[in-house]
Amino acid sequence: MNKITICALLSLFVLTTGWGQNGTETLKEYTRQMDKLGKAKVIQSAFAYIDELEPRTTKDLIFLTEIPAPPFGETKRANAFRDMLVEAGADRVWIDAEGNVLALRKGTSGDKTIALDAHIDTVFPIETDVKVKFRGDTLVAPGIGDDTRGMVMVLTVLRALNKAGVQTRDNLLFVGSVGEEGLGDLRGVKHLFSDQSGVKIDSWISIDGGSIGRVNHGALGSKRYRAHFKGKGGHSWGAFGLANPHHALGKAVEYFVQSASDYVAKGGAKTSFNIGRIGGGTSVNSIPFESWFEVDMRSLDPHRLYEIDSIFRKSVEQAVADYNSSGVKDKVSLDLEKIGDRPSGLLSTELPLIQRSMAATQYFNEKPRLTTGSTNGNIPISKGIPAVTLGRGGKGGGAHSLDEWWLNKDGAKAIKLTLLVCVAEAGLAK
Ligand SMILES: [Zn+2]
Repeated sequence: MNKITICALLSLFVLTTGWGQNGTETLKEYTRQMDKLGKAKVIQSAFAYIDELEPRTTKDLIFLTEIPAPPFGETKRANAFRDMLVEAGADRVWIDAEGNVLALRKGTSGDKTIALDAHIDTVFPIETDVKVKFRGDTLVAPGIGDDTRGMVMVLTVLRALNKAGVQTRDNLLFVGSVGEEGLGDLRGVKHLFSDQSGVKIDSWISIDGGSIGRVNHGALGSKRYRAHFKGKGGHSWGAFGLANPHHALGKAVEYFVQSASDYVAKGGAKTSFNIGRIGGGTSVNSIPFESWFEVDMRSLDPHRLYEIDSIFRKSVEQAVADYNSSGVKDKVSLDLEKIGDRPSGLLSTELPLIQRSMAATQYFNEKPRLTTGSTNGNIPISKGIPAVTLGRGGKGGGAHSLDEWWLNKDGAKAIKLTLLVCVAEAGLAK
């Protein structure tokens, strides 16, 4: 954790001065390594297969997009993906206890395991129309880019490696993970990096969002709560004077927003807070029996995330205590329900996986963009395990909206880049 904090502070400086995005050098040894690997006959043949597979890759994208995969409802799509991985060929394909789909492709030594992941779930409820529509060459459907395109890239990388007969030194583990979005709270990847997973992953590569060139090496952590305020409830006139959960909630919001604003105004790594939903109550002339709100807090710096979290808990508790001792009848109780916990961290740009991702991007004459975000990579990054999130390529937009679209503009290039990073990280067996 300490090492990550130091990296986080150093790299935050780099990011805020701007040259992290544009001027972070790719070390020569990695540029040379990537040039050599990219030109290897077997890799060139895998690239040619990726081009050849394009019509199939598009067909797979439409097929998977049209299987709904709401949070906690990914099973149908997971089963279809498992069948596709079996058909593509792997040493072992299975679905783990959390619902993640895994396909192992053994390396010659198998000392280490490099995972290539995309998430199965979308943000859309089960009843959403997920039929793919065509606007010229543009494909339009909820979830088509985030992250169904990523799933198809995982599949195509496996197919191309098999067809070309690429042999790696380390194992490759192809992953379709569950629960990346919203209240899923990274449950799939959390399970994979827990003691119960039965797999040991040494490097993690996710494909999630963004055009080619995305090299996400930072984990934007977040903490989310639903705060419940409960009381007896009663008639607005007849029971007047009874503790009112809405009134206590108002005080809690005021205390928290004031303290949190003071905290972020003092400077330091960007830290945000937002109350996104408020609810409760039955009618205008009833004292409600329940009031609730949801809060989201984010920071790149694990220490600041910890601090804003404790500011939140203290101010809400203080507000309820002050409200209850303000002369009201009876009491309002407070219950804090944790609904999201994603750790933060930032990996050094000198890490081989990050360098390889940057060098592979340059190999395809694209500019690497170092980014930070909230992805499956948060979990390995927070544990100090090399992790990167790469772009899904092509052109796209409208993620998390019903109008999400994706256009296959040089999409194959992003698949080749992903394959190159995987093979570089796993090592090409001689
Ligand atoms: Zn995503």
